[in-house]
Amino acid sequence: MDITYWNAHEETLDKDALRELQLIRLRQTVGQALKTDFYKRRLNKVGISSGDDIKTLDDIRRIPFTTKDDLREAYPFAMLAIDLHDVIRLHTSSGTTGTPTVIYHSRSDIDNWTDLMARCIISTGVNRGDVFQNMTTYGLFTGGLGFHYGAERIGILVIPASSGKTNRQIMLMRDFGTTVVHATPSYLLHISSHINSGDIKRSDLKLQRAFLGAEPHSEETRKKIEELLGIDAYNSYGLSEMNGPGVAFECVYKNGMHVWEDAFFMEMIDPVSQEVIPDENEGEIVFTTLNRTATPLLRYRTRDLTSVMGGECPCGRKHRRIARIKGRSDDMLIINGVNIFPSQIEDVIMKIPEVGTNYQIVVDKHGALDKLTVKTELYSKIFNGDFSLLSNIKIKLQTMLRDTILVNPSIELHEPGGLPVSEGKAKRVFDNRPKM
Ligand code: AMP
Ligand code: ZN
Repeated sequence: MDITYWNAHEETLDKDALRELQLIRLRQTVGQALKTDFYKRRLNKVGISSGDDIKTLDDIRRIPFTTKDDLREAYPFAMLAIDLHDVIRLHTSSGTTGTPTVIYHSRSDIDNWTDLMARCIISTGVNRGDVFQNMTTYGLFTGGLGFHYGAERIGILVIPASSGKTNRQIMLMRDFGTTVVHATPSYLLHISSHINSGDIKRSDLKLQRAFLGAEPHSEETRKKIEELLGIDAYNSYGLSEMNGPGVAFECVYKNGMHVWEDAFFMEMIDPVSQEVIPDENEGEIVFTTLNRTATPLLRYRTRDLTSVMGGECPCGRKHRRIARIKGRSDDMLIINGVNIFPSQIEDVIMKIPEVGTNYQIVVDKHGALDKLTVKTELYSKIFNGDFSLLSNIKIKLQTMLRDTILVNPSIELHEPGGLPVSEGKAKRVFDNRPKM
């Protein structure tokens, strides 16, 4: 197999050299974090007032975890570690407009992230001469610009197609000879059904590879995409709190995703006891940024569940690999790549006086795409036999939900008392998608 590296030295550092580098960078990161109001308070409480208080990598366990809620509370500036004048970009987590989490980037942060992305792309065998069509949303979501910069840095032609407009995507693929795409697995499946049934045929395309990311998918889904399109598909993992994509990526061997451990210190914890667990046990990933200046994050709980894989990868990269993400340790739903918390839906329902308080959130597969349905009851005193009233309530609920969660749900209105009432803890979310 042909192996190409982007940062050969960093990608093949042996374990000891990597740990040494991590310790240096961890100390710097703690020093950097202490410049923020948020971490200064937190770290001082546990007796850390300088990066030098970190003597070994194990000392990281003295530092409390950082959570998504911490980021929300720190919004907008309490976790910013540099002068705002030195920030050149910000990104937020996908979905939510109500309670954003923001990550700032300095020029060196963008530069490092771009390098990590270039590493990922190159590690799959893509190189100069390839044509890359980026079919994920450009904007605050990190999948657009993150991949875009990485691919440009390598020097390949980038088509910033963004997501949606399926027929146009396929036309661009044909007209510009796209060889590699980046998309959510659900969207690529959707596109592949169009390619196989529409005017433009597979034989009109030069497609060879795809990067699949932003949402959980199974090995079967990967195989299906590979077979339908006759390509190689690689798993791409990341989260906006750790820049976005470019955290972990499959190399040509497709046997788990290498985590760039010179940029992210990875721990696995038991999500309940919060104790660090040994590699190969399934747990929640916790990441600490190792070279970020604008928004350093210490021991960030990703809520993503997986395990670290044993053994060495034949590609020569020493960075540990993680298995596919198996699920989440919180209730976040990922619908066609967009993150949604059930509480956001509840907040909207509670704001509309015409509907009652009982509701259900149902997620199904509709072809290749996820479909969200919100079922709710009418408020008992509202209905007077006028059906136009019902359609107005539906539209109002749908619009408010779409504006909040950025996904357009189907709405089902039920008569008062029409939805089952559960005794004890209400079961609100029914995720009927096939399990990973
Ligand atoms: P965001 O911060 O909007 O980029 O969303 C990040 C979240 O998307 C992660 O914490 C994961 O839950 C999910 N995610 C991203 N990439 C993958 C992937 N390859 N497989 C499974 N889940 C993923
Ligand atoms: Zn490898």
